[in-house]
Amino acid sequence: MPIINQLPAHLSDLIAAGEVVERPASVVKELVENAIDAGATTIAVDISRGGMGRIRITDNGCGIAPTELPTAFLRHATSKLHTAEDLGAIATLGFRGEALAAICAVSRLEITSCQKGESQGASLFLEGGVPQTVETVGAPQGTTICVEDLFYNTPARLKFMRKDSAETAAISGLMQQLSLSHPDLSFRLKKDGQETLQTAGDGKLQSAIYGALGADFAKTLVPVKGSGDGISVEGFVTQPLKGRGSRGMQFFFVNGRLVKSALMTSALEEGYRAQLMKGRFPGCVLHITLPVELVDVNVHPAKTQVKFAKEKAVFDAVFYTVLDCLAKSGGAVKPAQTI
Ligand code: ADP
Ligand code: MG
Repeated sequence: MPIINQLPAHLSDLIAAGEVVERPASVVKELVENAIDAGATTIAVDISRGGMGRIRITDNGCGIAPTELPTAFLRHATSKLHTAEDLGAIATLGFRGEALAAICAVSRLEITSCQKGESQGASLFLEGGVPQTVETVGAPQGTTICVEDLFYNTPARLKFMRKDSAETAAISGLMQQLSLSHPDLSFRLKKDGQETLQTAGDGKLQSAIYGALGADFAKTLVPVKGSGDGISVEGFVTQPLKGRGSRGMQFFFVNGRLVKSALMTSALEEGYRAQLMKGRFPGCVLHITLPVELVDVNVHPAKTQVKFAKEKAVFDAVFYTVLDCLAKSGGAVKPAQTI
């Protein structure tokens, strides 16, 4: 007969960690979301070897009290959820209290944090989730987390990691999305010592586009703005003559969240009608805002699919906004309209 044992904590923690931390980009996503929840206005990400060597994230958020540093790394430890009623009205990106526990279980991690108004901060090192002692250190307000040797203790996962370049690309894409959905925050990304993304954080979408997608792309855009049926559409689309060879630069955000949507892609492209040459595609950064009850966002954080209650209304809002704005701007020929 097989013997049934309850798994020891370190083993069940490792299994749980594997579900939260799939690859370096998942570490970056969780840590940046924590920084946003902490009220940070500047968030700097520094990675080496696609995040497999090191991921360091520095924010200027509220910080963590020295006595609470070890608690933050326990499973199901969170400051964002207190009662079952809170579950119905979550206003933060995190609430499960699983990310830090999972990340530290599969890496060597150092955190340094200092709360607002305090002159001293504290740092803590954890290896494979095992904490050492908390040390008092001088530090600026905010939190820095440095993750090294990801998956060093889970060889099976390590074996399945893709090339560093694929991981670097995934992290760059993630940082672009975060920058475009939070123009009010200043993001920086350094890859192997080279700064590749920096946004102003001045609240303007066009500044975020410049910083995240580059001046060359930003200069091909014209602003669009419109609404219909309670659905508002605002952002930037490429001038018809600046069509691109692929759909790789189409970014749609629904209520602030990046989505992939064939419906919106076709509404956008219809808006150009015959103005684009065959085989050329528009680029865009469009924010669509609609009442939450009209959109079913799949709540799994990694999923980017949505379902709309009124598909035709969404299509029309995007289509007519693009059509009207391109007509008004005279398409490509008025550089004054570009950003
Ligand atoms: P969750 O975000 O779901 O609460 P995490 O494991 O990601 O769970 O984080 C645990 C707790 O640690 C958070 O609830 C928060 O109190 C604290 N924390 C994590 N990162 C930061 C940060 N960058 N700044 C301030 N507090 C943080
Ligand atoms: Mg979190």
